[in-house]
Amino acid sequence: MNIAVLSGKGGTGKTTVSTNLALALKANYIDCDVEEPNGFLFLKPKIDKEERVMVEYPVIDDDKCNYCGACVNECKFNALAKVNHDIMLFEKLCHGCGACKIVCKYNAINYNKREIGKIEKGNVRDINCRRGILNIGEPMAVPVIRELLNDLSNEINLIDCPPGTSCNVVNSLKHADAAILVTEPSEFGLHDLKMAVELVKRYNIPFGIIINKDDEKDNVVKKYCREEEIILIGTIPYSKDTAVLYSKGEILYDDFYHKTIFDKLSKGVKEVLSWN
Ligand code: SF4
Ligand code: SF4
Repeated sequence: MNIAVLSGKGGTGKTTVSTNLALALKANYIDCDVEEPNGFLFLKPKIDKEERVMVEYPVIDDDKCNYCGACVNECKFNALAKVNHDIMLFEKLCHGCGACKIVCKYNAINYNKREIGKIEKGNVRDINCRRGILNIGEPMAVPVIRELLNDLSNEINLIDCPPGTSCNVVNSLKHADAAILVTEPSEFGLHDLKMAVELVKRYNIPFGIIINKDDEKDNVVKKYCREEEIILIGTIPYSKDTAVLYSKGEILYDDFYHKTIFDKLSKGVKEVLSWN
């Protein structure tokens, strides 16, 4: 079973919830936040495998090209441009879709590959961990996310999604059987939570909500859950001790007080998402 952990915005505690719940549920941890994969800072797995993520880009054979411009007109991503007697490629805009090769009547296009990131795999405390890392300056995270989720095991996989509701999140949700939405009890948190709720509803993914930094009052998120009949899996109370442990890069689950919280949340996840 694949459980996606997402949040409408960054800074809600999504990675804190993902890493600690992975330990509480004894689930595999997969960090899809490939632009800023920070889950390993806390889990500190021993990395035993690295794989390069490659994407294809077109290479034009000048001996065969007659500069007709058909490939330029076909490229929907504006990755090709005709400049005098030259076809220029802006390789970071290329999605490797293959359309330019199909329309070239002169067989002047071949493909080459370039590296845009890597996948790291390892383990810690009997859980498997993997993360994707997008190279600095690369604009397209999706190929790394796709590769990362390519061969998920049949065990419980906790997928730490990128923040927000962009196409990176949509791609991280592709294999999700259920979702946990992490939010904080503020108007800003609620605003972005609503977008995340819309997203998981659109894909018919069963979900529940965890409130982080909860003020233990009847706050805006709790009212929203009641009104919309959304299941509140549980809460993590606001605490300075939590922030101190987090800032030191420590795993909250190692602390007795926090272990109790995450064990309760993992029980809630099992009940709410009908997993056992
Ligand atoms: S379609 Fe082929 S021949 Fe025409 S400009 Fe592109 S590469 Fe050259
Ligand atoms: S492979 Fe697709 S995205 Fe890349 S240059 Fe060709 S048409 Fe454009």
